[in-house]
Amino acid sequence: MFDHPEFDGHETIVFSRDEASGLTAIIAVHNTALGPAFGGCRMWPYPDEGAALTDALRLSRGMTYKAAICDLPLGGGKSVIIGDPERHKTPALWHAMGRIVEGLGGRYIIADDVGTTLGDLAVMRAETTHTAATTAAASQPLAVTAYGVLCAIQAAARCVLGRDKLAGLRVAVQGLGNVGLPLCGYLHARGAELTVCDIDPGPVAIAQQDFSARAVPPETIYDQPMDVFAPCAFGAILNDDTIPRLAARIVCGGANNQLLSPAHDGALAARGITYVPDYLANAGGVIDFHQESIDDAPDAVLAAVARIGIVTEEYLGRAAAARETPQTLTDRLVRQRLAAARLAAV
Ligand code: NAD
Repeated sequence: MFDHPEFDGHETIVFSRDEASGLTAIIAVHNTALGPAFGGCRMWPYPDEGAALTDALRLSRGMTYKAAICDLPLGGGKSVIIGDPERHKTPALWHAMGRIVEGLGGRYIIADDVGTTLGDLAVMRAETTHTAATTAAASQPLAVTAYGVLCAIQAAARCVLGRDKLAGLRVAVQGLGNVGLPLCGYLHARGAELTVCDIDPGPVAIAQQDFSARAVPPETIYDQPMDVFAPCAFGAILNDDTIPRLAARIVCGGANNQLLSPAHDGALAARGITYVPDYLANAGGVIDFHQESIDDAPDAVLAAVARIGIVTEEYLGRAAAARETPQTLTDRLVRQRLAAARLAAV
């Protein structure tokens, strides 16, 4: 376990099986120096436990970084359930999961994620209070992650391209799901020119019709003329194959873990491409969770998420002045914040 390539000093890792409900779950609490670990519960038919563990370790670390870079009083965690959300969900399973979360005594706050819904959290609340979406307005249909990515793109366009407006900005969006499609809507409303792809023709047709997007086959998205590349499908898409093909000046999207390896941050910089750290651009969900505990009115939530733009602008400016990549800077800042919080607690 401690030699696992994704292990990063995680505080607690819980492996749990409940025979009666068929639940097999892993909860990874990465870091609670700044506050309780917040993170979604992913239900997925992982091929094996190793794949599930890798996901939990990587994603929980990402949650720590999202919260810390946005100065939130939260840490990072993630849970994964091995199972098919279409076939294996039962009330008993969510009760069992709720009991495990309760057993962590508030060190982990569980949220919805791929394969889980607000309804699933509601069932878990019979067993634990440590869930997201406890306010009445929490089910509001706000595309907070997409809005945060928009704010980050606006900031990057200002810093890198000297553009205050997005009109005419060429943005290529990879993946038109919960993040990518609303992002297209926000960008289109501001006059950006969209190139899009998805393996599902449904959302592609919507983007073409509603947002005047130009659709391309998924495997060719990297080769398109563009100012900004917005990965919103899956991780590890910035690698030795794709980076040399990108003509973008900025990469800024919602997907988690976009870089195949840390070295690919440098590879982007070497090509003159500014990479907005994914954990900063896609921190809208964790900001939303925190804001809802203060004021969950939609305007207040979106205003809080807009902080991503302010933070992005500040760190892109500081990174350029120091001649380092934004991610080098933000990674260091996060580590310093975590270390300082640990020291202060002693
Ligand atoms: P989603 O499943 O709703 O959408 C993903 C989309 O990508 C789907 O439409 C899918 O068909 C498409 N896709 C899959 N393979 C593709 C390919 N090869 N080429 C092009 N498109 C492809 O997921 P989502 O919620 O929109 O999340 C997208 C990414 O953002 C994920 O990496 C997720 O972890 C990350 N993220 C999401 C949120 C959120 O609030 N939903 C928050 C933070 C990070």
